[in-house]
Amino acid sequence: MNTRRQKLRRALLALFFLALPITLNYYSPYLMLSGTAEGVATFSLVFWLGVFGSALILGRSFCGWACPFNGLQQLWESVGTRSLKRVVLLPALKYVFWALWVASLGGALASAGVWTRFDPLYMTEYGVSLTEAGNLITYFMLVALTLVPALLGKRGFCRYLCPFGVWGIAGEEVGHALRIPRLMLRAVPGRCNACGRCTRACPMQLPVTEMVQAGAMRTTECFMCETCVDVCPRNAIEVGFGRAE
Ligand code: SF4
Ligand code: SF4
Repeated sequence: MNTRRQKLRRALLALFFLALPITLNYYSPYLMLSGTAEGVATFSLVFWLGVFGSALILGRSFCGWACPFNGLQQLWESVGTRSLKRVVLLPALKYVFWALWVASLGGALASAGVWTRFDPLYMTEYGVSLTEAGNLITYFMLVALTLVPALLGKRGFCRYLCPFGVWGIAGEEVGHALRIPRLMLRAVPGRCNACGRCTRACPMQLPVTEMVQAGAMRTTECFMCETCVDVCPRNAIEVGFGRAE
């Protein structure tokens, strides 16, 4: 197992979560919308459009390697977790939240006309997000919002509520439709002995063994953490650039 790669990935996720008191505003949908309504392009606007753009060629790697909310769930699950409870219709919620976010952005842009300036520190004194009590409340609300669905099991927030990850899903889907070569998993079914290690290790609880045996690795829920690649003792999963069929 390539433990060094997974150690690095886990350390990065923890770091991005621990930095959240400083960086919260740079992810903020609220500041994106409020800035746009005033004709200001905020850091968060550029950032989320960047996540969409990066997904064209890197898939959902941002979620798997750099998302602070994934980092929080990883820390939470290191204490103990259980299999995700499947709840009908709940997986649609993150798409609803994202659609509302995009529609609000369109509305704000329509009222302001066009972005006239870029202000990366918009409403962020000294570049630090948590400088007053109001922001502290937002911070703890976000932490709670991430952890409550995690009570349903592994990566509950990613699977059910997170609209941030949908920027990556949208980018990956557009890249797929345009047939842009991107980072992807490739199965070599002939090497797989169905030991099930990949399925047990997948943080998103995907049925990786079945996917390998079917030779079908593409799914919107895979965030390219490469854990399955690293735990497979028979190198039955490869990662590289290519076009999905
Ligand atoms: S399928 Fe593999 S790369 Fe995708 S989320 Fe699961 S372990 Fe990570
Ligand atoms: S870990 Fe490798 S050999 Fe085992 S089930 Fe997964 S792909 Fe097959």
